[in-house]
Amino acid sequence: MLVTLIFGGNQGDRKALIGEAITEMSSIGKIERCSSLYETAPWGFESSDSFYNQIVTYETNLHPEEVLDKCQATEQKLGRVRSGTQFCSRTMDIDILFCDSQIINTPRLTVPHPRLAQRNFVLAPLNEIMPAFIHPVSHKTIATLLSECTDTLKAEKKF
Ligand code: ADP
Ligand code: MG
Repeated sequence: MLVTLIFGGNQGDRKALIGEAITEMSSIGKIERCSSLYETAPWGFESSDSFYNQIVTYETNLHPEEVLDKCQATEQKLGRVRSGTQFCSRTMDIDILFCDSQIINTPRLTVPHPRLAQRNFVLAPLNEIMPAFIHPVSHKTIATLLSECTDTLKAEKKF
């Protein structure tokens, strides 16, 4: 199965943390494609850090829920950075965008990710690595979804 994951974070050393998470997730299988790293301005307060996002596809023999287990274990392992004496939670979010062209609706897992077509920070990196992929629910290509997306937040290619 080819699984498409999006990595995101807005705290700590965002670039390094995403790189570590991508490496950690390679225990599920071989990396097939990797997008550039994108930066998206945060909603609302200008004081908060911007978000970094990157999309990677892996060829895996695991079942989708086993991939989710590994995503959540990796979030736990890397998703905490020391700030003074305290830990801030949720510096790492790893979501499953696609599992081949499967449609999954279980209590733990909705695939394709339900909000992916509303967000430039998902569609821009997806369009870089798989523009012709057809979304199995809307039956539109990633390129079409990006051209139709009305998200006003710009996702900029950073690295
Ligand atoms: P979010 O990603 O929406 O900011 P979380 O990372 O805390 O929030 O995830 C909340 C829950 O979403 C998880 O416990 C997981 O079971 C569920 N979930 C449903 N579909 C997916 C998916 N495609 N990828 C990742 N998590 C998912
Ligand atoms: Mg998540």
